[in-house]
Amino acid sequence: MSEPMLRARNVHKSFGHLEILKGISLEVQAGQVACLLGPSGSGKSTFLRCINHLEKINDGELWVAGERIGYRRSGNKLHELKENQTAKQRAAVGMVFQQFNLFPHRTALENVIEGPVVVQKRNKAQALREGMELLDRVGLADKYKHYPAQLSGGQQQRVAIARALALKPRLMLFDEPTSALDPELVGEVLDVMGSLAASGMTMIVVTHEMGFAKEVGDVVHFMADGQLVESGSPTQVLENPREPRTQAFLSKVL
Ligand code: ADP
Ligand code: MG
Repeated sequence: MSEPMLRARNVHKSFGHLEILKGISLEVQAGQVACLLGPSGSGKSTFLRCINHLEKINDGELWVAGERIGYRRSGNKLHELKENQTAKQRAAVGMVFQQFNLFPHRTALENVIEGPVVVQKRNKAQALREGMELLDRVGLADKYKHYPAQLSGGQQQRVAIARALALKPRLMLFDEPTSALDPELVGEVLDVMGSLAASGMTMIVVTHEMGFAKEVGDVVHFMADGQLVESGSPTQVLENPREPRTQAFLSKVL
């Protein structure tokens, strides 16, 4: 089998004396959509933030597309990455948050091209062209001149998805991307995520949208108290969970 897009091995993360991730091991294969479920406070966001270099792990290993996060290997030795190397690794991972965090004084298109132009120093004309294509892909080509305040929450989140894609990531992380939206706006964001999945993007999605997990997810991982409790197909985990903690959680949310 080819190299997984994400490989986490025994990942530990503490804040002070509080251990938040207690040895997470999981793999996500290229093209897979992995849904991550679990109660609030179980460490889902922390895990995503470790994958995206926003937090540094205390123990274990994390690999994205064959590159060890935060380290470079030479011979048998591991060297910590420098700032610019970290930035390059981070670009392989796109992240979409619950709060869209768009720049309020930039238009939709300006938000999308910010990363490629300012961070990656790519050619602006090309970034603009690609930015328009991405806005088209999320159904917002006609809104390219709009400022975030002129867009609905669902539209802002679709701009945020286009912005993450502009860095040409290999892996996309979604952290409860629809939790801050009015219910009637959830569907348009899930549709965009579904078509992204259909295009072959590898995705890790933290969500409470069980319908999305069932229809789009290839695997569901259930996390509780900093540990991976159960993994399996969406049907197995959601309809026939083996572990009491999974059963208890699902009986509350379903
Ligand atoms: P989830 O996303 O599953 O709700 P989080 O990963 O956000 O869980 O949080 C897990 C635990 O880690 C929570 O108890 C939270 O308070 C704690 N935590 C998260 N970030 C920090 C931080 N920067 N400093 C201290 N504690 C943190
Ligand atoms: Mg969270």
